Amino acid sequence: MTPPQTALATACVHAGEIVDPHGSPHTPIYTTTTFKFPSTAAILDVVDGRKPGALYTRYGLNPTIQALEEKLAAIEGAEAALAFCSGMAAESALFLTYGRPGIVCLGDAYGGTLELLGSQLPGLGAPGYFLLGNELGALPSLLKRGAGLVFFETPTNPTLEQFDIAAIAELAHAHGAFVAVDNTFASPVNQNPLALGADFVVHSATKYLGGHSDLTAGALMGRKADIARVWNWRKNLGQTIAPEIAAQLARSLRTLPVRVERQNATAMRVALAMQAHPGVERVLYPGLPDFPGHALAKRQMNGFGGMLTIEVKGGGEAATRAADKLKLFALAPSLGGVESLVTQPCTTTHHGLTPEERARRGISDAMLRLSVGLEDAADLIADLEQALG
Ligand code: PLP
Repeated sequence: MTPPQTALATACVHAGEIVDPHGSPHTPIYTTTTFKFPSTAAILDVVDGRKPGALYTRYGLNPTIQALEEKLAAIEGAEAALAFCSGMAAESALFLTYGRPGIVCLGDAYGGTLELLGSQLPGLGAPGYFLLGNELGALPSLLKRGAGLVFFETPTNPTLEQFDIAAIAELAHAHGAFVAVDNTFASPVNQNPLALGADFVVHSATKYLGGHSDLTAGALMGRKADIARVWNWRKNLGQTIAPEIAAQLARSLRTLPVRVERQNATAMRVALAMQAHPGVERVLYPGLPDFPGHALAKRQMNGFGGMLTIEVKGGGEAATRAADKLKLFALAPSLGGVESLVTQPCTTTHHGLTPEERARRGISDAMLRLSVGLEDAADLIADLEQALG
């Protein structure tokens, strides 16, 4: 697999698009559930995998979905990709395919992922193990016990902690385990885990890939043979993306680099302004030279992303007051859209954890997580200043 970086913008526009006989520059939306064949022999060629082709939409064998998957693979430099109806669908199909001997989850992960790995999959016989960043020394023994998959987000939510993808992949591979990285926060513009040695990349395409907070989708990228095993789970769990959403996601991907590059630049300006603000205790942003993971971020990321977390002086109540006063930043727990969003993790994404567990993870009540959108940087900074004022 080669990193797509140099050709990313071109891949976002052109990869996977089918040649339309009527000259449409974009792949048409095939909403049909099934496709007709000239003969039984022709059906069997597709059913038996001898020839590519459209067959049945839930299988993903639909031209609109297949075109999207080619684009998704290209933007992560992967041999193959599968598109799902949500990020959780992509994760659960991956875990059911590769995680039954045990899954080690590193650092903070999305709440749904923690619930799936901690309470639901163990009931099906797939044990979940959890290591925070300062507990990585225990990873070799878990791998020796037979865990088959190491899964992590980097940067993490909401502390933007960095995990060393190349080092973790080397260790996991030495024990015969697969490595999957949730690249949702970084996006393929800022980080290419496959090029750093990971076996799989997962995305909540609901976030930066969709980019407009108007679609729910997921993606999984990796080697062709590895992805082929997941395909069957997706098919029978019925998790395939709808063709209409596939077209909407392909539309959004065409502008991904432009959006994310602007979000990187604006987030940096917001981070610097917040660092200088007397009402802010601390700013967590991988682009800041004093951020603990800055050196690693510089090594493994191509850009520092549109997500940052500020810690408001005065504690949780002061943070809530500031969040409630924001006008341009909408109070909403998602991320990655063109509109800026703010969330207080202790009231949303990490509300389900005990205060002790949040403290163990370095998540304070005074934290506000910002997802920087495409508004003018000066307007966003002014909004934060009036809210913190
Ligand atoms: N991964 C990350 C990092 C997320 O933030 C989320 C959702 O917030 C998911 C996965 C799950 O994605 P979805 O909501 O598309 O199922």
